[in-house]
Amino acid sequence: MIDLANIVAIDVHTHAEVSCRQPHDNYRPEFDEAFAKFFKSSHRPTIQETCDYYRTLKMAFVMFTIDAEFELGRKRIPNEEVAEEAMKNSDVMIPFASIDPHKGRMGAREAKRLIDDFGVKGFKFHPTVQGFYPNDKMAYHLYEVIAGAGLPMLFHSGHSGFGSGVRGGGGLRLEYSNPIHLDDVAIDFPDVPIIIAHPSWPWQDEALSVAMHKPNVYIDLSGWSPKYFPPQLVQYANTQLKNRMLFGTDFPLITPERWLKDFESAGFKEEVKSLILKENAITLLKLK
Ligand SMILES: [Zn+2]
Repeated sequence: MIDLANIVAIDVHTHAEVSCRQPHDNYRPEFDEAFAKFFKSSHRPTIQETCDYYRTLKMAFVMFTIDAEFELGRKRIPNEEVAEEAMKNSDVMIPFASIDPHKGRMGAREAKRLIDDFGVKGFKFHPTVQGFYPNDKMAYHLYEVIAGAGLPMLFHSGHSGFGSGVRGGGGLRLEYSNPIHLDDVAIDFPDVPIIIAHPSWPWQDEALSVAMHKPNVYIDLSGWSPKYFPPQLVQYANTQLKNRMLFGTDFPLITPERWLKDFESAGFKEEVKSLILKENAITLLKLK
């Protein structure tokens, strides 16, 4: 159980980057090389290392892997590993799962099993890396299971570091991650919390518009230092969307320490800081 009174923040966006159960799949290594260059980092902590680190910071966090086996042809890190590590570290870790929407009904069955038997609390999608439009009916088999369980869905949005600088972007299409496509999903699943991840550059205004219009849409502030947030994002976080903005880092790419330091002086009102850091996530994840 997470001790909600004594944690300082809930990070809704961290990545499982390395498996302790299977070797790294080195298929298409050009992605890893470009990625390390783009983010100037190649360190990949284990899930347990991440738990220990967040525990010292008195923070809880959501973690997920990305299943993009169809588009990348690369073996995923098992959802079961993420979920079982979360069971062992339930004072700090909240497990999300990721299933490639191309798996259709078979993927929907997997989602049901992960919810029922492994206690996963939400699902992560990456339209660019998974190669699909979020409003493609192909993905709806999966969404229906998630909706039935009342769980949130988190979608990468905007530019992708993955594929950046690779010849032809590695074949990955940025346009899939325009958050405007989530408007359709929010209409078809009006009771499912939908999280638009990251400042959605170059589509920040689309993200704000969808969130303003659809009350089930949230925005996580991960992937960028708050220093570089577009001014309209900070403005809406301080006003109309203050109950729907969520702290997230994209760890290990950005550490919570760096993010929080820059958050202090990024123009957020004092009274919305605790909403963003903790309260909005408690409501969204139904932690109490
Ligand atoms: Zn991410």
